[in-house]
Amino acid sequence: MARIVMKFGGTSVADLERIRNVARHVKREFDAGNEVAVVVSAMAGFTNQLVAWTREAAPLHDAREYDTVVAAGEQISSGLLAIVLQEMGVPARSWLGWQIPLMTDNAHGVARIRQIAGETLIERFRQGQVAVVAGFQGIAEDNRITTLGRGGSDTSAVAVAAAIGADRCDIYTDVDGVYTTDPRIVPEARRLDRVAFEEMLEMASLGAKVLQVRSVELAMVHGIPTFVRSSFDPPDGPQTGPGNLPTGTLICDEDEIVEQQIVTGIAFSKDEAKITLRRVADQPGVAATVFGRLSDAHINVDVIVQNVSADGRHTDMTFTVPRADFEQAMAVIEASADDIGYEEVSGSADVVKVSVIGIGMRSHAGVAAQMFKALAEKSINIQAITTSEIKISILIDAAYTELAVRTLHSLYGLDEA
Ligand code: ADP
Ligand code: ASP
Ligand code: MG
Repeated sequence: MARIVMKFGGTSVADLERIRNVARHVKREFDAGNEVAVVVSAMAGFTNQLVAWTREAAPLHDAREYDTVVAAGEQISSGLLAIVLQEMGVPARSWLGWQIPLMTDNAHGVARIRQIAGETLIERFRQGQVAVVAGFQGIAEDNRITTLGRGGSDTSAVAVAAAIGADRCDIYTDVDGVYTTDPRIVPEARRLDRVAFEEMLEMASLGAKVLQVRSVELAMVHGIPTFVRSSFDPPDGPQTGPGNLPTGTLICDEDEIVEQQIVTGIAFSKDEAKITLRRVADQPGVAATVFGRLSDAHINVDVIVQNVSADGRHTDMTFTVPRADFEQAMAVIEASADDIGYEEVSGSADVVKVSVIGIGMRSHAGVAAQMFKALAEKSINIQAITTSEIKISILIDAAYTELAVRTLHSLYGLDEA
């Protein structure tokens, strides 16, 4: 007997037929004698609709009311799944964030989990009940509903797993694991049996939406074996693969990975926009003013490139911001023109960040050189570069996204044999 968390994403609960399919997966684990907490997302597309309504109601709205609205999708799917499970003879009840409670801070729309009363759920396991938890939502100290940021049900699942001391957390989605890159873009992408926490963290934060970044951080901190698996695999089919592990991809410590590749995966993010300031003064304090103003406006800056000045007096500066903040960032820079002092500002949302990730890069030189050469051969111009120990990211024209990802995927030998 094990204690497990099973998380099902939006496409897995998109309609009643799929919810029935999910219930069969849950019943299988319950019938095997396991204690089960299920975490569900809203039905596919539902959260997008709710977000659109809040924007339509008022472009600048009260973030607390935004959360009241967008948390609603998970209430419906958790209730429906509990009903279907009961129909199948599985004792189950739904749990909204506030009922457990799952406490968060009060950063509405991007709240972070502080504490989960795991004992509430454990008590129900003792009574033989399956807990169906609404993902993505919690409650802040001031008694208002909060949400955890888009894709946040992954984080709910891992956090619940930590709170109840689960043996593992299974993230069921519409792909059967983590791939070397998004399989929707590169059909040759290969499924990985194992990915190290650090690599998954980079992949997720650099655009691979298969797991929310925060969920990977929590899995790493609490050492929770986390599997990414398909809800579309038959509920009554084989559930284990090599080594008797559950099917799918295991996210684990790097020393649990025997055959380490140099490059593990390629991620890309279209969620970027670039802003260039021409001829800013090359003197102390300029960067502090530019990035201070953006930070005051709660805009995150990612890649920053500044040239060495040719005349000792002026230089050019380029940086990226989330695409959703592009217009606001341009407005902040234009409003601060006198304080910053620049000749011209330009911006573009037609950029994409492509990243090559692998912990093998720590001990292996030449990965970047190979990357730049391969892209040059395809006449893809690199606009900016950033690196860390285990990743290289470049900014390119969005029109070349697929070509760049495919080129790098073959270059590092990741294509399916
Ligand atoms: P869910 O609704 O189950 O949370 P998501 O849409 O959030 O599912 O995440 C699954 C999707 O992530 C897949 O359909 C796939 O297109 C995308 N994805 C991006 N990068 C990867 C990757 N490296 N491996 C697997 N899936 C990826
Ligand atoms: N329903 C939420 C979203 O669409 C949370 C999730 O699916 O993980 O972002
Ligand atoms: Mg998701």
